[in-house]
Amino acid sequence: MKHILFVASESLPFVKTGGLADVVGSLPQALTSKYRVSVFIPLYLNVIPKLVDAKPVVTFMVSTPCIQQQATILKQTHEGIDFYFLQHQGYFEREGLYGFPDDGERFSFFNLACVTFIEKMNLHIDIVHSHDWHAGMIPLLSRVVYKHHPNHKNLKHVFTIHNLAYQGQFPLSVGKECLGLGDQILNDGSIRFDDGVNFLKSALVYAHKITTVSPSYAQEILGLAFGERLHEVLRLRQYDLFGILNGIDTDFWDPSKDPFIPYHYDSESLENKVKNKLVLQKKCGLKVSENTLLLGVVSRLTWQKGIHLILDQMSDIMGLDVQLVVLGSGEGHLEHGFRNMVEKYYGRVAYVAGYNEPFAHEIYAGCDILLMPSLFEPCGLSQMIAMRYGTLPLVREVGGLKDSVSPYNSAANTGTGFSFREFSVTDLYHVLRMSVYLYYHYPSEFEQTQRNAMNEDFSWALSSEQYAKVYESL
Ligand code: ADP
Repeated sequence: MKHILFVASESLPFVKTGGLADVVGSLPQALTSKYRVSVFIPLYLNVIPKLVDAKPVVTFMVSTPCIQQQATILKQTHEGIDFYFLQHQGYFEREGLYGFPDDGERFSFFNLACVTFIEKMNLHIDIVHSHDWHAGMIPLLSRVVYKHHPNHKNLKHVFTIHNLAYQGQFPLSVGKECLGLGDQILNDGSIRFDDGVNFLKSALVYAHKITTVSPSYAQEILGLAFGERLHEVLRLRQYDLFGILNGIDTDFWDPSKDPFIPYHYDSESLENKVKNKLVLQKKCGLKVSENTLLLGVVSRLTWQKGIHLILDQMSDIMGLDVQLVVLGSGEGHLEHGFRNMVEKYYGRVAYVAGYNEPFAHEIYAGCDILLMPSLFEPCGLSQMIAMRYGTLPLVREVGGLKDSVSPYNSAANTGTGFSFREFSVTDLYHVLRMSVYLYYHYPSEFEQTQRNAMNEDFSWALSSEQYAKVYESL
């Protein structure tokens, strides 16, 4: 059985800030029938309380001109998957994961420690599957710097782009001093970007195969509009680039047994879904009303998610007979915008800042429609989770949203949600008005669409087969 090492900055059930953690936490499980999979992540401060019986397996020095630090690797097995945690108090035991002035140094250490770990431990790894920029230097370090080391000589590298917008760009000194790279690599154009180094670009150049998280996004990033200035590099690699739609953990996200929601239900008992709405309305200070359409948002509040479209169109949206509950934090002006809306539309709009897993489940269960008007969306998981909970996603037709939501078709009475194409407030509003009309005037069609959504297969079964094909092609 081949041994695959996943390397990422986040993984459920230990640490999560976004969809990356869902994928790294659930894809390995779906691969276990064919492969042995292990996972390598940093030991962040908030991971420590979640360790149960983690034991140190190896300690070594990472030495480059600016890093002379000891790395300790702890191991804990979780549901049959071996997790390896990189422990370093100074770099990782902090409040928060990213956005520190020394991120270049911290993640250089992470990449260097991972390749050294592979070298020191005889785990017979065949494939390293790295995720996002945080692990972007691993293919280069393994294939160039460590290429003569026995455990690296035959290693193959797969790299997955979860979001091309985050690239890990740092000054040249990070490449030279922190990673200890020589002038030739620093100057041959493979990792250089503007005046510095780019972790994600390095992975695009040095990985054997590249994947991203939906077929549409795999196409979109080859062009100027979505390519985040790396489209030329991606085009060079387009025959090694595969778009594979993410799945979700359908065991964790299951309205028939979700421990975070008050009333369990399935596609044949939607009357219990409504009971969740009543609890949610009460909890959020909204007017409790079974028959009022409840809109939801569960998202990082960033420009990428198109949240400002909702705020810009708020007076028209609230002109419809709807309520809105928003969960998430991010850019100050968006948070501020929703706080204002709570005051302005008292009893009709609720806003909860922060990251709150149980409350997210209650929103997915209690709402009728989830808004996700993203500017771009590599895959998106929230819309899939919403569909699983019979909450119809209203999305922009982009990236993974386009690949996972089939728009309601009134003639054929098919579809699993609603969608619009142009990134504009008018198009968002137009489709929202249509879906609100459907809810109030054609409830049986709305319910049929909910059932269609709940009966879609969002498990990893199909996608893990596609990953297996990529691994086998190496
Ligand atoms: P991204 O990774 O770009 O943030 P995705 O839709 O791929 O977006 O994944 C988002 C994941 O994070 C989903 O599981 C969603 O439920 C969860 N999530 C987003 N914001 C919050 C929040 N404020 N509280 C709890 N969960 C959240």
